[in-house]
Amino acid sequence: EPEVSAVYLDKLNDRQRAAVEHGVGIPGGAVGGPLLIIAGAGSGKTNTLAHRVAHLIVNGADPRRILLMTFSRRAAAEMGRRVERICAGVPDGKAGALADALAWSGTFHGIGARLLREHAADIGLDPQFTIHDREDSADLVNLVRHQLGFSKTESRFPAKATCLAIYSRAVNAQTPLADVLRANFPWAAAWEPQLRDLFAGYVEAKQAQNVLDYDDLLLYWAQTMSEPALAAAIGGRWDHVLVDEFQDTNRLQAAILTALKPAGSGLTVVGDDAQSIYSFRAATVRNILDFPKTFSPPADVVTLDRNYRSTQPILAAANGVIDLARERFTKNLWTDREAAERPRLVTVRDEGDQARYVATEVLENREAGMRLKDQAVLFRASQHSGPLEVELVRRNIPFVKFGGLKFLDSAHVKDVLAALRFAENPRDRVAGFRVMQLLPGVGPASAQAVLDAMAGSSDPFAALTGHSGPPRAAADWPGFVALLSGLRARSAGWPGEIGQVRSWYEPYLERIHDEDAVMRKADLLQLEDIAAGYPSRERFLTELTLDPPDATSGQAGPPLRDEDYLILSTIHSAKGQEWRSVFVLNAVDGCIPSDLGVGTSEEVEEERRLLYVAMTRARDRLALVVPQRFFTHGQSATGDRHVYASRTRFIPPPLLSLFECRAWTVAAPGQVPGPRAQQVRIDVAARMRDMWR
Ligand code: ATP
Ligand code: MG
Repeated sequence: EPEVSAVYLDKLNDRQRAAVEHGVGIPGGAVGGPLLIIAGAGSGKTNTLAHRVAHLIVNGADPRRILLMTFSRRAAAEMGRRVERICAGVPDGKAGALADALAWSGTFHGIGARLLREHAADIGLDPQFTIHDREDSADLVNLVRHQLGFSKTESRFPAKATCLAIYSRAVNAQTPLADVLRANFPWAAAWEPQLRDLFAGYVEAKQAQNVLDYDDLLLYWAQTMSEPALAAAIGGRWDHVLVDEFQDTNRLQAAILTALKPAGSGLTVVGDDAQSIYSFRAATVRNILDFPKTFSPPADVVTLDRNYRSTQPILAAANGVIDLARERFTKNLWTDREAAERPRLVTVRDEGDQARYVATEVLENREAGMRLKDQAVLFRASQHSGPLEVELVRRNIPFVKFGGLKFLDSAHVKDVLAALRFAENPRDRVAGFRVMQLLPGVGPASAQAVLDAMAGSSDPFAALTGHSGPPRAAADWPGFVALLSGLRARSAGWPGEIGQVRSWYEPYLERIHDEDAVMRKADLLQLEDIAAGYPSRERFLTELTLDPPDATSGQAGPPLRDEDYLILSTIHSAKGQEWRSVFVLNAVDGCIPSDLGVGTSEEVEEERRLLYVAMTRARDRLALVVPQRFFTHGQSATGDRHVYASRTRFIPPPLLSLFECRAWTVAAPGQVPGPRAQQVRIDVAARMRDMWR
């Protein structure tokens, strides 16, 4: 066969190229053996994976037979675009069109949902199942908990979210409940028998209602793979299976992977043990460390040692932090990106000043030509960005928040989604319970009564339409039934169904939220726009539940493509990404490491890796901010909600020389405000006037 000219290969270094070419072009079209790429942050792992997919396609692999799994849908979409770009650069141009057909890329959970619908009949599952997000799941756990009477008879029985966390941990780690309790929830260990009953009841409730929770998507998939015939059929769909961020997978995911490709052929996994930050969700770094010897012959291992992302001073500081880790497999990286500017360690008075400092710097960077999109502010927990969000709104700096409070969490959006879900799956009690109570005169008890009548029937929807409705809702009941019948008949088509629900719902919305109904209605119009981006109701509900859009400063919905906005993100959600300038908030003990997670030394080590992940997101500029006082959510012993904080223990004195240390204070009153402050003041005044026009 003639050698395809692949210009893109020249841009890679030798080891990246070896990983890209691994097993490609074996005579007879065979695929290569298992491959592990393990290397530090910014060494081009994800980039190499994208090139590998492109190279496979250029060399004749069928893109529909490639499965690509990443950590988030955003990452999957980005990877798809990269693959297309690389393929489009190949002279004959055919590959670019082919890359378009990369149909199987997404998260483990998203791929699991798709497969389970397709194979539902094989495993006795109704393909119309709906998916519960964490909040729905906690609501259902709570329902079962009440039914079993634990909340009454057992004082201090764990809260619904804790119950769900325990359940989830046991499932994802594939570990007996007793062990999970002993290791992670010792204070709840005494309730083991009750928890066992609760979880049994929860599983039964889910099955009776034909709903799956997040964990079920993996669990059912793994169970399906334990049947050899099904495993062969599913594994046989793909010639190549590639996984990014493998260090953050759990045992269930690793089991799925080896069941897909028992000999490891066509399997490529990529990761960095120093960036393993999801053990609280039962991810285990053992997956990546044990990967090579899972197979015989063992997987080939490629390590990378050059960082292409960060300047030398930033890399030196990040290496300094991770060098102090107790154990680590990946080696330190080097870079040739020389720069004079060291990362900053900035002390400020409190979180208010921290917000003002970051906003000021962000604007200064923008004046120096750095778009807002090239800058990100990272923090340990979602609520830490509160004061900054206020400051950004005040200064009119647009932002998007990843992994924060979701558009979909707002009550009115959830109401509409519940109606769609209930129509899709009338057994879904959490959805039915919510949507029925929108009708005036329907409370929890009467909603339960209808749901009970439905649950007792072999055709729950017929039971609903035949039901006369709660007596006090006689006027509204026919409209409700008509809506659901219309949705089930798909009379309005997709995404028209959203409009259908909207016109039914708006009178109720006006009644429930009379003070801000106008804004909420605008959100629903936006939901309709979002819905138009999905091919069907079922895909919309599934994908929105698994990976909701991010919250923005302006309207509640996702931002327009060409807008410029600052990125706010938890460190966890920033995984795999990079920005020219990165600010890390609250680099103090109690935050990083979090005081929630300093129980064991494993937990402290994970927090160290978290700081490493945060620092290695930066390309050109990095600032860690250290407020001297910060706000705690619990109450301190003195009743004071501010505590005096000290710099994170992960930057001990010997590392200080790697940073430029400085203090920052707000300009004292009386000082002449700079031109920028004036500009902002004029903007605000104009807005105030506009309000009355
Ligand atoms: P992380 O561990 O944070 O996920 P990573 O190892 O996946 O990082 P990438 O995101 O793939 O790293 O790459 C980091 C940066 O380096 C990107 O901007 C990428 O374009 C660039 N890069 C990677 N390889 C090369 C190369 N051979 N030449 C030039 N730039 C490269
Ligand atoms: Mg990556």
